[in-house]
Amino acid sequence: MSKLDTALAALSTGFSGTLIRPADAAYDATRQVMYGGFDRRPGAIARAKSAADVQAVVNAARQSGVELAVRSGGHSNAGHSTLEGGLVLDLREMKAIAVDAAAETAWAETGATAIEVTKAALEHGLVVGFGDAGSVGIAGITLGGGVGYLARQWGLTIDSLLAVELVTAGGRVRIVDAAHEPELFWALRGGGGNFGVATRLKFKLRPLPEFTGGMLALPATPETIAGFVAAASAAPEALSAIANVMPAPPMPFLPKEAHGKLIILGMLAFAGPAAEAEKAIAPFRALGKPYADFVKPGPYTQMYPPEDPNYHPTAAGRNMFVNRLGVGEAGTILDTLEASDASFRVTQIRVLGGAVARVPVEATAYAHRKAPIMLNLAAFWTTPEDRVKQEAWVERFMASLKQEVTGAYVNFLADEGPERVAVAYPGATGERLAKIKAQVDPDNLFRHNQNIVPTK
Ligand SMILES: Cc1cc2nc3c(=O)[nH]c(=O)nc-3n(C[C@H](O)[C@H](O)[C@H](O)COP(=O)(O)OP(=O)(O)OC[C@H]3O[C@@H](n4cnc5c(N)ncnc54)[C@H](O)[C@@H]3O)c2cc1C
Repeated sequence: MSKLDTALAALSTGFSGTLIRPADAAYDATRQVMYGGFDRRPGAIARAKSAADVQAVVNAARQSGVELAVRSGGHSNAGHSTLEGGLVLDLREMKAIAVDAAAETAWAETGATAIEVTKAALEHGLVVGFGDAGSVGIAGITLGGGVGYLARQWGLTIDSLLAVELVTAGGRVRIVDAAHEPELFWALRGGGGNFGVATRLKFKLRPLPEFTGGMLALPATPETIAGFVAAASAAPEALSAIANVMPAPPMPFLPKEAHGKLIILGMLAFAGPAAEAEKAIAPFRALGKPYADFVKPGPYTQMYPPEDPNYHPTAAGRNMFVNRLGVGEAGTILDTLEASDASFRVTQIRVLGGAVARVPVEATAYAHRKAPIMLNLAAFWTTPEDRVKQEAWVERFMASLKQEVTGAYVNFLADEGPERVAVAYPGATGERLAKIKAQVDPDNLFRHNQNIVPTK
C-alpha cells in the first residue's frame, strides 16, 4: 500500500470532512491555488470541518509518512499550499467567526479570509488589520506577520494576535498564547506554518468609528515617487500608504493618454476622523495632477474591492527592505520598469515605521521591525523560457536597489531556497525558531512552507 493509501485508509474513520480524489468532479477546482504556475496534482485533498478533522489528517500524515501540504487561503507565492502526489489539508470550509464586541476580540477559524473577518468585525465597528487583498487567508498572512493598511497605526497582524488554537505535529490541540506557551507563541508570530496547523486565531480588535481611504493614481516620475515615500514617512501614524509603480491598465477610470504609461497607483488608508484624513492626504494629492482620486470617507471594507476568483497570475517576484527611497532610487525603479518587456511589471513600495517599529525586534519572529520601507518587485511571465528571463530580471532589479539593510518578509518570498529563508529569519531569530521547531516538530512534518529546519 502506498503512503497515500495508508493515510486515506486511516481517514476512513474519524474524519468528518470531504476527501477529494483526482477522479472526483470537484478535483480540478479544489486543487487550484491563487497563483498560476503551480499546476500540481495532489493525490488527495482533505477538506476539514473541525479541529478534530485536522487532528485526524495530521495523525494520518505523520503515521503514513505521506507528504503533507496545508492550505487555507491558497495565496502562497511559493506554491507551498499544494503539492504533487501527496495530501493537501484544506481548511477553507472552516470559517466560523465569533466576535466578542464587549471584549473587543474575535476568534476566527483559519479557513476565513481577510475580507470575511474584516466584515464580521466591522459589523461591531471594530477592525483588525490584514493585508491589501481581501481574498488572502487569515492563516498564512497572520502566521507570517501581516503587513497591511493599518500597520503604522496598530502594527502587524501578529501585534493584534492574542492566541492560536494549534494542532501540533504530534496531533494534540493546544491553545497557545503569551501566558501559557510563550516560546511557541513567539514562534507563531512570524514563523509561518512551521509549528503546526492553526485551526483558530484570536485577535484583539480596535474601534474604527471613522475611516477614509482608497486609490489615488498619480503620474510616476522620480520626484512623485520620492515625494510619495516622503509624504508617507512624514504622515501621522493613522495613515498607511502603499505605492504601486506600474504601467497604467486600460481601465475606464484612467485617462486614455495614461494607458500603458508608468503611474503610481497609490493606496491610502487613514484610520481616524475625516477632517484629519483630509489634512494627512493633502501632501499626496499635491504631488501632481491625479489621474484618478477615489480616496474618500467610508467603511474600511472599501479597501478590499471585489476580486476576480479566476485571476491566476504567473509572476516572478522578490521582496526586500530599503532604508531610503529618494529621487535616485526612484529613477532606477522607473528605468528598470520601463526597460522590461514583461506584459506586466510592478514595484510595490510600502512605507512602514509607526507601530510596527515600536515593538522590540526580539518580541516576535518577524525580525524586520526597524526597516522603514518594504519593496516588492515583480514581473509576469508567459512560458517556461520567459519565466527564467523574468526571474533573472527581478534578481538584477533587486541587486540594483540593494542598500546596507538586509532582510526579506517571509510572506512575500517565492520558492527561493534556504538562503532566502535565512534572510527572512536572520541570526538569533532563525536560531530560536530552529530550536522551537525541534521541540514541536522534530521530524519536520510541516515542511511544505518557508522551512525552518529543526536544530537540537
Ligand atoms: C494578492 C496577494 C496580496 C497579498 N498582500 C499581502 C499584504 O498586503 N500583506 C501581507 O502581509 N501579505 C500579503 N500577501 C502574502 C500573503 O500573506 C501570503 O501569501 C500568505 O501566506 C497567504 O496566506 P493563505 O492562507 O492565503 O495562503 P496558503 O497558500 O493557504 O498558505 C500559505 C502558507 O501558510 C501555511 N498555512 C496555511 N494555512 C495554515 C494553517 N491553518 N496553519 C498553519 N500553516 C498554514 C501553508 O503551509 C503555507 O506555507 C499577499 C498575497 C497575495 C497573493
